[in-house]
Amino acid sequence: MKIRAQIGMVLNLDKCIGCHTCSVTCKNVWTSRPGMEYAWFNNVETKPGIGYPKEWENQDKWNGGWVRKDDGKIEPRQGARWKLLMRIFANPNLPEIDDYYEPFTFDYDHLQSAPESKATPTARPRSLITGKRMEKIVWGPNWEEILGGEFAKRSQDRNFDDIQKDIYGQFENTFMMYLPRLCEHCLNPTCVASCPSGSIYKREEDGIVLIDQDKCRGWRMCVSGCPYKKIYYNWKSGKAEKCIFCYPRIEAGQPTVCSETCVGRIRYLGVLLYDADKIEAAASTEHDRDLYQAQLDLFLDPSDPKVIAQARADGIPEAWLEAARRSPVYKMAVDWKVALPLHPEYRTLPMVWYVPPLSPISAAANAGQLGANGEIPDVRQLRIPVKYLANLLTAGEVAPVERALERMLAMRAFQRAKHVDGRHDAQVL
Ligand code: SF4
Ligand code: SF4
Repeated sequence: MKIRAQIGMVLNLDKCIGCHTCSVTCKNVWTSRPGMEYAWFNNVETKPGIGYPKEWENQDKWNGGWVRKDDGKIEPRQGARWKLLMRIFANPNLPEIDDYYEPFTFDYDHLQSAPESKATPTARPRSLITGKRMEKIVWGPNWEEILGGEFAKRSQDRNFDDIQKDIYGQFENTFMMYLPRLCEHCLNPTCVASCPSGSIYKREEDGIVLIDQDKCRGWRMCVSGCPYKKIYYNWKSGKAEKCIFCYPRIEAGQPTVCSETCVGRIRYLGVLLYDADKIEAAASTEHDRDLYQAQLDLFLDPSDPKVIAQARADGIPEAWLEAARRSPVYKMAVDWKVALPLHPEYRTLPMVWYVPPLSPISAAANAGQLGANGEIPDVRQLRIPVKYLANLLTAGEVAPVERALERMLAMRAFQRAKHVDGRHDAQVL
């Protein structure tokens, strides 16, 4: 056994309000320079939706992540490294600028300068490339914002009932949630395996994955190889870029900028201890549906004296052992199992975990329909179907998602039953 430490993040999707503060503060701190318009270490997309870049989850199109071969070994979908080198000048699996959409801002001045009218003035989008007003955004990772714009535009000359029928006619049958995304700092990163120039590396001490900007040649095999498409090409600098997990702040004992500035306080940081000798076996697990459990089995109990002794022998510093013992990521992801990995079937062993959203389904939970007897709840009651969350978080396995939701519900009921002085009635305990 060889123990290594990995920094990870849990995001509680129940609390994300889609304000994009995380993306903006991240952008301002780390990418305030020419090329900033292309830079998104962090983004927040509306799900279900095509995401950012367009259709990033469609691995048949982009060929990202790892595949398990017949002999049980794994290799990047892009093929072995020598094949990658042959493709350097004709990488067929690369998102183009249109897949990221044209960078734009909103015409905020119009809110102040618009003439008096019956409808509230709206800030229309303006292209950051041409400087011109964009009459229509054809697609975007936040489709509800586009719907909102449509709504405002049509409201100028139609009555409210007609618009409601037109745009929100099926509203009671729809659902949505926000998914903030950053590089997963995977335990088995395909970006590292795909890079022909060896410029991407995973740090030994904390598992943060970084790109050496001096070595990067802009070949973009990493962009194709990353199944999450969280490495992107900066058209201005000619280099690949990605989230750096705020490593200078982490080294100084500070949280990441996105965590510190998150309006919903949805982000938790923590250290996990894992057995590095088991990485390849976990990533080559036979069935996709077993990958979530295989990933969980990698992590070690940071309070176990044997684990602590081995970790010390493997050179993990005392401060990191202490951080692992107090880690909310260990508690939520491994111990309580309320936080789940994003698309474990990509086999990169992602280290950003998500608590599935609960709020929209409280009515179903109150009616006792949250799969208490092992059944998949009625999707009309649930709003966000458990199967949808399972496809996002556990390679389609419904049971772990139901377990997480039930635990979150139990915790919510417990907290709501508290008296103002913090006491509970005897029957709640
Ligand atoms: Fe690499 Fe990050 Fe993509 Fe994982 S999510 S493959 S670490 S760029
Ligand atoms: Fe969600 Fe927090 Fe980002 Fe706002 S700042 S979009 S609440 S993750």
